[in-house]
Amino acid sequence: MIECVSDEVRYENDFIIEISTLLLEQLLDSLDGIELKIVLQEKVDSQASITDSKYSYASPECGITIAKVVKNKGYKFEVVINQGLEWQCFLRTLIHELTHVAQYQRKDLAHVDTSLGESLTYFKNIAYDCDEVKYQDQPWEIEAVNNEIKMLKFLAGWIESNNSNKSNYERTNCDGKYGQA
Ligand SMILES: [Zn+2]
Repeated sequence: MIECVSDEVRYENDFIIEISTLLLEQLLDSLDGIELKIVLQEKVDSQASITDSKYSYASPECGITIAKVVKNKGYKFEVVINQGLEWQCFLRTLIHELTHVAQYQRKDLAHVDTSLGESLTYFKNIAYDCDEVKYQDQPWEIEAVNNEIKMLKFLAGWIESNNSNKSNYERTNCDGKYGQA
Protein backbone atom coordinates (compact mmCIF):
# COMPACT_ATOMS: atom_id res chain seq x y z
CA MET A 1 0.00 0.00 0.00
CA ILE A 2 1.25 3.45 -0.86
CA GLU A 3 -0.09 6.39 1.08
CA CYS A 4 0.80 10.05 1.14
CA VAL A 5 0.28 12.60 3.86
CA SER A 6 1.22 16.25 4.05
CA ASP A 7 1.07 19.00 6.61
CA GLU A 8 0.07 21.56 4.01
CA VAL A 9 -1.01 20.84 0.47
CA ARG A 10 1.32 22.14 -2.17
CA TYR A 11 1.50 19.16 -4.49
CA GLU A 12 -1.64 17.03 -4.47
CA ASN A 13 -1.29 13.85 -2.41
CA ASP A 14 -3.28 11.64 -4.80
CA PHE A 15 -1.14 12.78 -7.68
CA ILE A 16 2.05 12.05 -5.71
CA ILE A 17 0.74 8.51 -5.02
CA GLU A 18 -0.04 8.10 -8.73
CA ILE A 19 3.44 9.10 -9.89
CA SER A 20 5.16 7.20 -7.07
CA THR A 21 3.30 4.05 -8.10
CA LEU A 22 4.31 4.61 -11.70
CA LEU A 23 7.97 5.08 -10.70
CA LEU A 24 8.02 2.00 -8.47
CA GLU A 25 6.46 -0.06 -11.25
CA GLN A 26 9.49 0.84 -13.35
CA LEU A 27 11.88 -0.06 -10.52
CA LEU A 28 10.32 -3.28 -9.21
CA ASP A 29 8.90 -6.46 -10.71
CA SER A 30 5.92 -6.30 -8.38
CA LEU A 31 4.43 -3.86 -5.89
CA ASP A 32 2.67 -6.67 -4.01
CA GLY A 33 2.89 -6.18 -0.27
CA ILE A 34 4.83 -2.95 -0.45
CA GLU A 35 4.29 -0.71 2.56
CA LEU A 36 5.22 2.86 1.81
CA LYS A 37 4.21 6.09 3.44
CA ILE A 38 5.24 9.30 1.72
CA VAL A 39 5.34 12.27 4.03
CA LEU A 40 5.47 15.75 2.53
CA GLN A 41 6.72 18.34 4.95
CA GLU A 42 7.68 21.98 4.85
CA LYS A 43 10.86 21.11 6.65
CA VAL A 44 12.59 17.76 6.71
CA ASP A 45 13.92 17.06 10.16
CA SER A 46 16.24 14.14 9.69
CA GLN A 47 16.52 13.39 13.40
CA ALA A 48 12.84 13.34 14.31
CA SER A 49 11.66 10.32 12.43
CA ILE A 50 14.61 7.94 12.42
CA THR A 51 14.96 7.15 16.09
CA ASP A 52 13.20 3.80 16.02
CA SER A 53 14.34 2.83 12.56
CA LYS A 54 17.52 1.21 11.70
CA TYR A 55 18.30 2.21 8.18
CA SER A 56 17.97 5.58 6.70
CA TYR A 57 19.46 7.97 4.22
CA ALA A 58 18.98 11.54 5.12
CA SER A 59 19.55 14.97 3.77
CA PRO A 60 17.94 17.60 5.99
CA GLU A 61 17.08 19.83 3.04
CA CYS A 62 15.53 17.42 0.58
CA GLY A 63 14.44 13.98 1.59
CA ILE A 64 14.91 10.87 3.66
CA THR A 65 14.26 7.21 3.05
CA ILE A 66 13.59 5.19 6.16
CA ALA A 67 13.49 1.43 5.91
CA LYS A 68 12.14 -0.19 9.02
CA VAL A 69 12.58 -3.92 9.38
CA VAL A 70 9.37 -5.72 10.24
CA LYS A 71 10.08 -9.22 11.49
CA ASN A 72 9.26 -11.87 8.88
CA LYS A 73 7.58 -9.26 6.73
CA GLY A 74 10.41 -7.40 5.09
CA TYR A 75 10.44 -3.64 5.22
CA LYS A 76 8.10 -0.83 6.02
CA PHE A 77 9.18 2.32 4.22
CA GLU A 78 8.77 5.94 4.95
CA VAL A 79 9.95 8.57 2.53
CA VAL A 80 9.97 12.14 3.78
CA ILE A 81 10.25 14.89 1.20
CA ASN A 82 10.54 18.62 1.57
CA GLN A 83 7.52 19.92 -0.30
CA GLY A 84 9.01 23.39 -0.24
CA LEU A 85 11.24 22.24 -3.10
CA GLU A 86 10.38 23.49 -6.55
CA TRP A 87 8.66 20.91 -8.72
CA GLN A 88 11.65 19.51 -10.60
CA CYS A 89 13.77 19.34 -7.45
CA PHE A 90 10.86 17.71 -5.70
CA LEU A 91 10.53 15.10 -8.45
CA ARG A 92 14.26 14.41 -8.52
CA THR A 93 14.23 13.90 -4.76
CA LEU A 94 11.20 11.61 -5.03
CA ILE A 95 12.89 9.53 -7.76
CA HIS A 96 16.09 9.39 -5.72
CA GLU A 97 14.40 8.22 -2.54
CA LEU A 98 12.12 5.73 -4.32
CA THR A 99 15.23 4.24 -5.92
CA HIS A 100 16.50 3.50 -2.40
CA VAL A 101 13.11 1.99 -1.51
CA ALA A 102 13.37 -0.28 -4.56
CA GLN A 103 16.96 -1.22 -3.74
CA TYR A 104 15.91 -2.40 -0.28
CA GLN A 105 12.79 -4.11 -1.56
CA ARG A 106 14.77 -5.97 -4.28
CA LYS A 107 17.28 -6.89 -1.53
CA ASP A 108 20.03 -5.27 -3.57
CA LEU A 109 20.74 -3.01 -0.62
CA ALA A 110 21.15 -4.32 2.91
CA HIS A 111 23.06 -3.57 6.08
CA VAL A 112 24.82 -6.10 8.24
CA ASP A 113 26.44 -5.60 11.62
CA THR A 114 29.57 -7.71 11.92
CA SER A 115 30.73 -9.49 15.05
CA LEU A 116 33.49 -6.88 15.30
CA GLY A 117 30.88 -4.18 15.78
CA GLU A 118 31.29 -2.77 12.30
CA SER A 119 28.41 -2.01 10.02
CA LEU A 120 28.70 -3.10 6.43
CA THR A 121 26.47 -2.11 3.59
CA TYR A 122 25.84 -4.74 0.96
CA PHE A 123 24.91 -3.76 -2.53
CA LYS A 124 24.30 -6.54 -5.05
CA ASN A 125 26.18 -8.95 -2.77
CA ILE A 126 29.30 -6.83 -2.47
CA ALA A 127 30.19 -5.46 0.97
CA TYR A 128 31.12 -1.79 1.42
CA ASP A 129 32.40 0.02 4.44
CA CYS A 130 30.66 3.40 4.22
CA ASP A 131 33.43 5.06 6.19
CA GLU A 132 35.79 4.10 3.39
CA VAL A 133 33.66 4.74 0.31
CA LYS A 134 32.70 8.33 -0.43
CA TYR A 135 29.06 9.21 -1.02
CA GLN A 136 29.53 9.86 -4.74
CA ASP A 137 31.30 6.50 -5.16
CA GLN A 138 28.66 4.43 -3.37
CA PRO A 139 27.00 2.34 -6.10
CA TRP A 140 23.49 2.63 -4.61
CA GLU A 141 23.86 6.44 -4.72
CA ILE A 142 25.22 6.32 -8.27
CA GLU A 143 22.12 4.36 -9.29
CA ALA A 144 19.81 6.81 -7.49
CA VAL A 145 21.47 9.85 -9.08
CA ASN A 146 21.42 8.25 -12.56
CA ASN A 147 17.74 7.49 -12.13
CA GLU A 148 17.00 11.11 -11.27
CA ILE A 149 18.06 12.15 -14.76
CA LYS A 150 16.67 9.14 -16.61
CA MET A 151 13.30 8.95 -14.88
CA LEU A 152 12.67 12.69 -14.75
CA LYS A 153 12.43 12.68 -18.55
CA PHE A 154 10.16 9.66 -18.52
CA LEU A 155 7.98 11.20 -15.83
CA ALA A 156 7.75 14.60 -17.50
CA GLY A 157 6.57 12.90 -20.70
CA TRP A 158 4.03 10.83 -18.82
CA ILE A 159 2.66 13.84 -16.92
CA GLU A 160 2.40 15.83 -20.15
CA SER A 161 0.27 13.17 -21.82
CA ASN A 162 -1.78 11.97 -18.83
CA ASN A 163 -2.13 14.95 -16.54
CA SER A 164 -1.65 17.98 -18.73
CA ASN A 165 -3.31 20.07 -16.01
CA LYS A 166 -0.33 19.21 -13.82
CA SER A 167 2.30 20.09 -16.39
CA ASN A 168 2.34 23.67 -15.12
CA TYR A 169 4.13 22.22 -12.10
CA GLU A 170 6.99 21.50 -14.47
CA ARG A 171 7.82 25.01 -15.50
CA THR A 172 10.10 25.47 -12.52
CA ASN A 173 13.69 24.37 -12.79
CA CYS A 174 15.87 22.74 -10.24
CA ASP A 175 18.17 25.48 -9.01
CA GLY A 176 21.28 25.19 -6.86
CA LYS A 177 19.30 24.61 -3.69
CA TYR A 178 19.25 20.91 -4.08
CA GLY A 179 21.26 18.15 -2.47
CA GLN A 180 21.05 14.40 -2.59
CA ALA A 181 20.47 11.90 0.14
ZN1 LIG B 1 20.72 8.55 -1.76
